[in-house]
Amino acid sequence: MSHTHKRSLRRWLKGLFLRHVHRMITCKEFEDFVLSYLDDELSTKQKSVFEWHLRLCRECREYLAAYERTREITRAISALPNDAVLEEVPEDLIKAILDAREH
Ligand SMILES: [Zn+2]
Repeated sequence: MSHTHKRSLRRWLKGLFLRHVHRMITCKEFEDFVLSYLDDELSTKQKSVFEWHLRLCRECREYLAAYERTREITRAISALPNDAVLEEVPEDLIKAILDAREH
């Protein structure tokens, strides 16, 4: 069995598992919730569902961490005074931001 096959099998099994766990959201729904979660706009119930998924799913923990990092960097950049040139942002940093968005 190839590596790719194992990966997709694992995803499929996880999807099956998540669908059968009471009230569990999928990874896609998790992604849709991330922004509201970080802005603290979720209801207490939504938040507990979200955090439960976070506890069970390593991919989404990594996704959230990358998302938060991207937001922090974006904020830091926009907080710079206007005359600070964006050219001073290291290329590596920009690449890291773009990479994080793809996941
Ligand atoms: Zn997930």
